[in-house]
Amino acid sequence: MIRRTLMRRAYNSGRWEKARNYARKIVSKPKEEKLARSVIIRSYWNQGNYSMVLELNQKWDGEFDYLLEQKSSTSDQFGPDGDRIFPQRVVAWHSNQPSPGDTYIEYDETNVCNNFLQEGERVWMRHPHGWTFWDMPLGFSLKKTHPDLLKLTAEILLYPWYPNSRGKSKGSRRKGKQPSLSFSAGTDSTAACIIMPENTILGYHRRSVKSTLDHRNADTLLEHLKGNGRNVIDVISNHELIRTYHGKQIGFSSDFACATHLILLADMYDIGAIAFGMPIDNSYLWKGRLYRDFGEGEFFQYWSGRFESAGLDLLLPIAGISEAGALKICKQSPLIDLMNSCLRGDGKSGCGDCWKCFHKNGPLGRSFNIEAREIQTFLNRIPMPTAMHALWAIQTMDLSRKAPQHLTPMLERDLSWWSQFYPPSEKIIPIRWREEILQKITSLLGIMKEPYQLEQVNLYDETRK
Ligand SMILES: [Zn+2]
Repeated sequence: MIRRTLMRRAYNSGRWEKARNYARKIVSKPKEEKLARSVIIRSYWNQGNYSMVLELNQKWDGEFDYLLEQKSSTSDQFGPDGDRIFPQRVVAWHSNQPSPGDTYIEYDETNVCNNFLQEGERVWMRHPHGWTFWDMPLGFSLKKTHPDLLKLTAEILLYPWYPNSRGKSKGSRRKGKQPSLSFSAGTDSTAACIIMPENTILGYHRRSVKSTLDHRNADTLLEHLKGNGRNVIDVISNHELIRTYHGKQIGFSSDFACATHLILLADMYDIGAIAFGMPIDNSYLWKGRLYRDFGEGEFFQYWSGRFESAGLDLLLPIAGISEAGALKICKQSPLIDLMNSCLRGDGKSGCGDCWKCFHKNGPLGRSFNIEAREIQTFLNRIPMPTAMHALWAIQTMDLSRKAPQHLTPMLERDLSWWSQFYPPSEKIIPIRWREEILQKITSLLGIMKEPYQLEQVNLYDETRK
């Protein structure tokens, strides 16, 4: 009995080897066999040791076939009883998160505005698993923030798991005058920054928890922009942890989560538009490889209306520009020397071994190693990630001969149109920002000609449901 408890405790805290040791001592007892076997094989699986998983599953007559069908990775792990088990790093994140000093409130799913409170410059939001926070600039007042902005923030962060958080707004917030941009300092958002009005507020989201993400490359660019009089707002938050409670890796809950700080600050800065650096690869192409009419699609229709009801224009200034076009825009700006999309760089250059170094740094003439494991893995994957752009990068860098054979037919066509602007995308830019943005785009990029080859893109012969 004691061994069983110790085994379970070791397993639940991610001490896989210890858990296996206890399990081996009781696995021959008929009453304990089932649970002990489960602990042994799952602990190997959690460690990513698939050969042991295969071997044991065979030995135990396929009792754990279902494990082999589950996606690998550190994300979804369940205990011997089906409870979710978090990797140790995630457990450490969860247990080190702050919470408001004296206040305790339960999560309110009927009125999500009740989940927000302010202490000093820190804004808290209660969610079903804990608290998330933003450290706001001096002078922020939650009381003076329109409830529609709070509702939109909560929806964006929670709807993937809590459909009830999808709510209507009163629609009484008056649109502000200021444009703003969710700015990550990468190529796409820098291209958006270049083609937007000079007075655009650049909102940088800074992850509060330590992870493999390195902010140094971004900091170089942010400091430069601040020095040049650009309005940069830098907000620290831990909201990327929300999805880790649902077995996902740290990151944004949904597409617009990277701008929740700007949404909350909209009244303080009189913001009337929030822009995102979303290129063609994610707008008019589905998964970067199949054309769709983005403006008419459900995603854009829903979210542009949803932002509108909170007194905000949803602005996608580079929706008609590919990643290649974004690179071209940045290349014509002095900012290019301060930019690096690599998330593993040292603040000066990229690592040279990652996918971003291949398809973003490579076409800029920066060095990378085509034999690097990550680059080879992605090139050989079917479908290839960011496929259309990667094909263009291969062709532009004259690397077709080094590309995997299955890509050859796709590389036979001239792909130079891919770096040009797609005119039909004009209509999704809200009218009050349209002219200025289009003027900048056409001064920096060529324009795609009809019939648009973009509309023919279907790299893997797929049909969308
Ligand atoms: Zn890199």
